Amino acid sequence: MPDAVPNYFDVLIVGAGLSGIGAAYHLQTACPGKSYAILEGRNAIGGTWDLFRYPGVRSDSDMYTLGYRFRPWRDAKAIADGPSILQYIRETAAEYGIDKKIRYGHRAIAASWSSTDARWTVEVATPGGATQVFTCSFVYMCSGYYNYSEGYMPGWPGMDRFTGKIVHPQKWPEDLGYSDKRVIVIGSGATAVTLVPAMAETAGHVYMLQRSPSYILSLPSQDMIAGVLRGRIPARLAYTIVRWKNVLISWFLFHRSRTQPEKMKHWMMDLAQKALGPDYDVATHFNPRYRPWDQRLCLIPDGDLFRAIRSGKASMVTDEIETFTETGIRLRSGRELAADIIITATGLKLQLMGGMQLCVDGAPVTLSRRMTYKGMMYGDVPNLAASFGYTNASWTLKADLTAEYVCRLLNYMDAHHYTTCTPRKHGEVLGEEPAVDLTSGYIQRALDELPKQGSKRPWRLHQNYALDLLEFRFANVDDGTMEFTRAANASPRKENSAAARA
Ligand SMILES: Cc1cc2nc3c(=O)[nH]c(=O)nc-3n(C[C@H](O)[C@H](O)[C@H](O)COP(=O)(O)OP(=O)(O)OC[C@H]3O[C@@H](n4cnc5c(N)ncnc54)[C@H](O)[C@@H]3O)c2cc1C
Repeated sequence: MPDAVPNYFDVLIVGAGLSGIGAAYHLQTACPGKSYAILEGRNAIGGTWDLFRYPGVRSDSDMYTLGYRFRPWRDAKAIADGPSILQYIRETAAEYGIDKKIRYGHRAIAASWSSTDARWTVEVATPGGATQVFTCSFVYMCSGYYNYSEGYMPGWPGMDRFTGKIVHPQKWPEDLGYSDKRVIVIGSGATAVTLVPAMAETAGHVYMLQRSPSYILSLPSQDMIAGVLRGRIPARLAYTIVRWKNVLISWFLFHRSRTQPEKMKHWMMDLAQKALGPDYDVATHFNPRYRPWDQRLCLIPDGDLFRAIRSGKASMVTDEIETFTETGIRLRSGRELAADIIITATGLKLQLMGGMQLCVDGAPVTLSRRMTYKGMMYGDVPNLAASFGYTNASWTLKADLTAEYVCRLLNYMDAHHYTTCTPRKHGEVLGEEPAVDLTSGYIQRALDELPKQGSKRPWRLHQNYALDLLEFRFANVDDGTMEFTRAANASPRKENSAAARA
């Protein structure tokens, strides 16, 4: 064994977004002896919050739960704009020295596990175009859930005839002027409901063109309780209180939606009616075909979308596109909408593992044939975890818990001189379902690529922060499902010290 193993790290984190920076904080705090590096494919920190630059880009969950548990969100705005979230991620990385661990322009393209050596060999595309090889004991994927290079763009007839501009929100042109222009935003999800009021401020008119409506709920952009507590009690305590309040409120909304969907539906439609006035056609434009929380709820701050509609600067159109024309869009109803700019807020392309190919002992891993263990590891895939947030609550709640759990796992292995941990079914036969149970388009389009979840723990996902907290923080790591082994060829301690010196 050589004295120094170049490019060896105990842990390789892939991705320097919200999850990757949080993972690094937990790792260096709970496992201070571990060497690690963050591979980031782009030339910037922040992931989602750096990539998306469209007008009004913001969170659609509150920052007291989207923020890290370990670093209070101090801004008065609970629903925050993209640049503020990016700044929060940057400041966290700088405060804890995590920024120095990031290798920018390093895109992980393949990882291959050797059980004999208890090692991952990771191929990485580097800025110069050359492929570099890294090795590590543990891979921690914090690569998000969608394809960064392009969003989802359905094809419509006549698109090439349109003489104006067509823009996807994932690739927003910096110089796109839209003052006094006629804009059509195609879509009904979080991006569309964000874009419409933001653009309506200066555009001539903005149409939100949707095939079918989503559930839309207005929330105050500032948290009242947080405002009352600010300055009166220590910031950390206030943050914890408000975080738990918001966890419980979002769980209550989700639970109610699943147990009393009709009541929830009418409650939300009534609120929309009150905001838009008695004559507004809520039954057409705010009456989804699915049950509440079969897809993510669209939250709007301070009713901004409703205000834009009431002001006459924006309008809803619920119809189907027949064709693009030279001057806009013709709908199935025969109506024509004129536009200078058409925004296709039609969503993301789901992508797991950041597009990285996985191999275990020479055999390719197809994730759709694997079962997810606690929503963070995969059956028969050793020493690899992935950060994947909740579908019914803020992403970071689960990302934080996952990071804590990974640290417990690594410390447990060190204490018992294990080199390898692998979730195994041990012959148990379980019912199978898709790991994500939303009916949203981007999930349905990718069902064939998604891993499965099982019919019982630890293969079943709770989508419940309180239950996960108990399980991730307190339950035994050695739970009978996780298999721990020692590889004869591995000598992690020697390599660690070499890497730490390097
Ligand atoms: C517009 C928008 C708004 C959202 N709002 C919310 C919200 O309000 N609440 C909420 O809970 N969730 C929201 N989400 C989901 C959001 O993505 C998560 O909240 C969170 O930002 C995910 O963080 P992440 O670090 O896991 O992933 P990302 O932010 O996607 O970051 C992943 C990072 O990994 C890098 N990467 C990917 N593949 C590779 C590779 N192969 N090699 C090297 N690097 C790689 C990427 O370049 C990126 O920097 C939103 C998503 C979008 C698109």
